[in-house]
Parts: sequence; C-alpha cells; structure tokens
Amino acid sequence: SKPILEVKDLRVSFRTYAGEVQAVRGVSFHLDKGEVLAIVGESGCGKSVTAQTIMRLIPSPPSWIKGGSILFDGKTEITSCSNSQMESIRGSEMGMIFQDPMTSLNPTMTIGKQITEGLIKHQGLSRDAANARAVEILKLVGISNPEGRIHQYPHELSGGMRQRVMIAIALACNPKLLIADEPTTALDVTIQAQIIDLMKKLSEQTEASIIVITHDLGVVAEMAQRVVVMYAGKVVEQGTVDEIFYQSRHPYTWGLLRSVPRLDQDKDSDLIPIPGTPPDLFAPPKGCAFAARCPYAMKVCLENDPEQTPLSETHAAACWLLHPDAPKVERPLETGG
Ligand code: SF4
Ligand code: MG
Repeated sequence: SKPILEVKDLRVSFRTYAGEVQAVRGVSFHLDKGEVLAIVGESGCGKSVTAQTIMRLIPSPPSWIKGGSILFDGKTEITSCSNSQMESIRGSEMGMIFQDPMTSLNPTMTIGKQITEGLIKHQGLSRDAANARAVEILKLVGISNPEGRIHQYPHELSGGMRQRVMIAIALACNPKLLIADEPTTALDVTIQAQIIDLMKKLSEQTEASIIVITHDLGVVAEMAQRVVVMYAGKVVEQGTVDEIFYQSRHPYTWGLLRSVPRLDQDKDSDLIPIPGTPPDLFAPPKGCAFAARCPYAMKVCLENDPEQTPLSETHAAACWLLHPDAPKVERPLETGG
C-alpha cells in the first residue's frame, strides 16, 4: 500500500533580523501505514521544524516552505493546502503531541472541553456523543475516573497526567498520522517510561502511523521501527532500528550513539559528547555539514556535500567514507553491536 506520508526534498527557511536561516535543507523520507518512525538529532537539526511543517504549524512569516513536497495519504499535497483545509486536516486526520503539555493545553478550559472541541467542530459530533468519546479516550490513555476528570482544569493534574491528556486530545479524532515532538522530555524518568509504554500500546491498538521526534535513543529503541537521523537540516542516515543501532555507517550517527544516554543504559556509563557545535545555518558549509566535528573528515568533505548512498533496501547514509575509493574506517566499538 501507499505510504501515509511522503516527504521529498523539503526545504524550510526562517527570516531573521540577521538574514535567512536554512533550517531544513532538502529532507526526504516516508512513513508507511501503521509504522512508528523516529526522527533523531541534536537540538537545532531541523527535526521539530520538519514535524511542524508537515502539520503546517510553523509560523509563516517568519518561516516559509522554500521547496519540496509533503504528500499525505497519497493524495493531499500539504505544501499547497489552504489554511482552512489544513485546519480541518489537523482536526480530523493528524494529531500532534508536544513536549510540554502546560504550554499546549488551554489553562482556562476543562479537560473535557479541550477534547470535545475538535470532535464537535471537525467531526460534527453532538455534545453528548463528544463527551462519551472523551470519557472513552481518557480511559484508553490510562486516566482513572474519566467522568470526574473531564470537569477538571490542566493545573489540577500532575505532569504525567497532563501528557496523557495531550495524547488523548491528539487521538480523539482517530488521526491517520500522529506526530509526537519530544513527548517525554519534560517528564521525570518513571513517568517517561509510563508514557513510552502508553504510546507503544496505542501504536499497536490504533490505526495511527506515528512520527516521534526525539533526542533520546531509549525512546527510539522502545517505540520505533525505523529511524531518520538529521544533522544541520539534512538527513545524514536512515534505516531500520537495527541498522541504525548495529550497522550505522555515518560518523554523526556513531557520535550520537556514544553521546546520548538511553533508558536501557546506566546513566553514568561512558557517554562521550560529540565535540564542537553544529554549523551556522545562516551560511551552511559548502561540503559535508559535519566536517568541522568529524574525526574522519577528508579534503573532499570540505568541498562537496556527500550524496545518499543506498546500503540496503531500507538503509542509506550520506558520507564520503562510503565512496569506493575512501579509506576503510571501522565503526567504533563503543557504539554497540
Ligand atoms: Fe565525516 Fe566526511 Fe563523512 Fe562528513 S562526509 S561525515 S566529514 S567522513
Ligand atoms: Mg525540538
């Protein structure tokens, strides 16, 4: 069957007082139906901007889509939808879960009202039917006494409970696509594990295809089937979870695997931060964007941006080390596998 989402050569920029920031620079990936795809990378790599662009939630201006295509469900070109079309798609076919539920929940509105609003507006449910659906969906996300909870306000709930409510709002309309941007980052460790369990359960029980944006490889290992690794506004590697964890070929992916604590790893095991900082996206480098931080950088890396090299049907990476004439480099042992 056709993928639920096909992103091709997406380019997104921001206008700032200092000039244009090229936040997303030619990103391509797809999401199959029922699949959980993780997009990983350091902050500022363009992963959140990509997600927000798919839902057309980036403020425009100052940002704008410079080019490329986002085909949703095989027929809707998101980049050319009108704002009102998008509003209706967001209320009925896409849902988004944000990092901090406190900033995305309306503090002046009851939980019940926030869940039912979209159902009444976009799905034409009656108030009673919408309330019944709210109770049902709160149960689904593991909230006890949902009949009582719908009359409460966000500040009356704990952080973990609020994130469950956010998930309930995103799921209420039965979306085909769910995007979760750092869904556990603002939560403490035990609650994080509970929310990941919940999202895993939901991905199995609902029809929704899920994109989870994260810097936490524990979340990736727990939830995702495939991974897209982004750096400086580009995809540097993508593959199945096993290909990324055990057969990765891009030095940036190796760095990520060494530097990021995982839920299944001792917090004080040997984490090695990637030295240096990502490049300035006002003036992206001519060659490989990772060259300034890459221990393997060659002359060609500074001059030319590497193309994606296919490594399997599901695996590809963009690195000059994959060129047949490049020196052979062993994947460092501490990246696992
Ligand atoms: Fe390093 Fe060169 Fe590969 Fe970039 S292309 S990651 S600089 S080896
Ligand atoms: Mg982010």
